[in-house]
Amino acid sequence: MVSALGQLPGVGPKTALRYVYHLLKQPRQETERIARHLLSLAELIKICPRCFSFSQSIPCDICRDPNRVPGLLCVVEESRDIATFEDTGVFKGYYLVLGGTLNPIEGITPDVLHVRDLEDRLKAEPAIEEVILALSPTASGETTMLYLARRLSGGAGSGSAGQPLGRRVTRLARGLPIGASIEYADEVTLGDALRGRRSA
Ligand SMILES: [Zn+2]
Repeated sequence: MVSALGQLPGVGPKTALRYVYHLLKQPRQETERIARHLLSLAELIKICPRCFSFSQSIPCDICRDPNRVPGLLCVVEESRDIATFEDTGVFKGYYLVLGGTLNPIEGITPDVLHVRDLEDRLKAEPAIEEVILALSPTASGETTMLYLARRLSGGAGSGSAGQPLGRRVTRLARGLPIGASIEYADEVTLGDALRGRRSA
């Protein structure tokens, strides 16, 4: 149990051990309740085949919503970022979860991320006019946005088979703290950054 919990982000062996002792002190039904929740995560939550976010319904509620703006596609790092952008109330388009940012040293290359899926979606949906790169302004986030901007906007080396995808590619306005994660941005700052987006 300690080694299983120790694999969670931000949880070291000592914290894991604290959790285990805490759980041991709980009534049996409380431990069972947590266990059921853990199981239902694996059983109920799927990955939306269109945007790659976690969802209980396939496709997810956002992908199924016909009232969103079909011309806007927002590329985020992780599924959790969608909730952060939805909280701003500013963005009404659709999303695609990239699955991380480029980091070749850790083996995160374009083929590990949903880069090809993003290109396939742009080819399949000519209605998408603008791709908003809403990745965190960290070193690897910046590298990834530069890489995607080149591939998607139709410049040299764009498109997987050489054909330009020719989309308008934008990124969030400055104002987000450099090096900070989208995950921790407040909705006002994020809403402003969305409204003031600029060419990537
Ligand atoms: Zn979806």
